[in-house]
Amino acid sequence: MRLNRSTDIALRVLMLSAARADRLTVDELAEALAVPRNHLAKVVQTLQRRGLLETVRGRGGGVRLADAGRTASVGGLVRDLEGETEVVDCDGDPACPLTGNCRLRGALRAAQGAFYAALDPITIGDLAAPPVRETLLSIGRR
Ligand code: SF4
Repeated sequence: MRLNRSTDIALRVLMLSAARADRLTVDELAEALAVPRNHLAKVVQTLQRRGLLETVRGRGGGVRLADAGRTASVGGLVRDLEGETEVVDCDGDPACPLTGNCRLRGALRAAQGAFYAALDPITIGDLAAPPVRETLLSIGRR
């Protein structure tokens, strides 16, 4: 199973924001996380809409982690961003002829459930806790 790039970028933004007490601009986030600015800006908007990042406007403004972002479940967030799609498109066009009775499909669904269940108890704050925090604090600093 592979996450969409946007989901990975969202997790990077949240981890960095969880470690840093200061506000970061989109430009600073893009540079620190080695992500194209336009892509990062869309991800930041998505996280703002979900109440996980807050924007501070004006001089010295930028984004910072909201309280809800720090306590957000990684599993819940990844589920939300990835959508509840199955790992294989059994019902595509044309649909797989085995869809009516396929043991593999059930096994893949169970594996996907286990994947998310492993991420459910982990919060964004956990991902930014020491010793990783030191690495997060060091990136993007000039
Ligand atoms: S073989 Fe099973 S899991 Fe694979 S596409 Fe067909 S129905 Fe889905």
